[in-house]
Amino acid sequence: MTGTTLAIGAYDADDLAALRDELGAAHVAGPDLLGGLDQATRAAVTAVAYSGQARFGAAQMDLLPRLGIVANYGVGYDAIDLAAARARGVAVTNTPGVLTDDVADLAVAMLLTQARGLVAADRFVRSGGWAGGGAWPLQRKIGGARAGILGLGRIGRAIATRLAAFGMEIHYHSRAPKQTPGWAFHADPVELARGVDFLVVALVGGPETAGYVSAAVIEALGPAGVLVNIARGSCVDETALLDALETGRLGGAALDVFRNEPDIDPRFHALSNVLLQPHQGSATHATRAAMARLQRDNIAAFHAGRPLPTPVV
Ligand code: NAP
Repeated sequence: MTGTTLAIGAYDADDLAALRDELGAAHVAGPDLLGGLDQATRAAVTAVAYSGQARFGAAQMDLLPRLGIVANYGVGYDAIDLAAARARGVAVTNTPGVLTDDVADLAVAMLLTQARGLVAADRFVRSGGWAGGGAWPLQRKIGGARAGILGLGRIGRAIATRLAAFGMEIHYHSRAPKQTPGWAFHADPVELARGVDFLVVALVGGPETAGYVSAAVIEALGPAGVLVNIARGSCVDETALLDALETGRLGGAALDVFRNEPDIDPRFHALSNVLLQPHQGSATHATRAAMARLQRDNIAAFHAGRPLPTPVV
């Protein structure tokens, strides 16, 4: 291994080449392979470039005794055990901001797709249903409908701004009211769900928000409601969600994230009222390159002893 940076996880070829060329990084495909590296190799590692949803916690950190930084490829750092990092004096960085627009765009695309039935309409044309004289059923109007944003952070605000431009009425829940252009604040997520037609989840993941979209939130959204989740699967009580979708107590859902992804619950496959996406919120060439750049900038700053551009811990 050259250098003291170890890239862990899945990277595309260009990003991996840049990690190697700029930082001398070696690469392993996942944290479960760390134990297979010899002790001298592990002892040399001071920086980890991390990518993926697999847990990176105390056990992995303890295999790297000189570790000083875990630079995450992504804004969501819930795979990394922050308490374990803090306890060991290990810095954690993420990639906020550069992916906000793409994730917000996908959320809006998913909401529109569900409202207008685009996937089923495509099938209707391809299968000859249209040419055969069938009538395509009327769909839902977005303008004037009510959108609820659960978590008005960077991405939540970008989604709200886009949906407002479509003429939607914007409601939101955060831990405290925020400055907005007149959007309605709801202190209680159940009240938010009760008052909207579409509920978009834009929370952080991790233990603090696990099951935040509870059975009660799903019931409150109701048979005409649609849940859009671009945050993390852990934010939603997935069993309650599946039960409600299967019995029509929730109208529909559009999901980019799941518990246990990519091996998602097979019950989802059977549901025609759900749009399924492969966790692709930030997956454009430009944004992934910007995320990779920011990840490398954090590691370069660490090696040079400069302030970290985007620290979490
Ligand atoms: P952000 O600006 O930090 O916003 C985080 C939101 O989570 C805020 O609204 C915040 O609430 C809320 N939150 C944080 N801790 C909470 C707690 N303990 N209880 C309740 N709410 C809490 O982050 P962001 O840049 O918008 O990113 C949001 C998330 O999107 C990421 O963490 C990631 O999981 C997800 N994401 C998904 C994709 C994808 O590919 N689908 C891509 C990028 C990111 P307040 O408003 O009260 O501060």
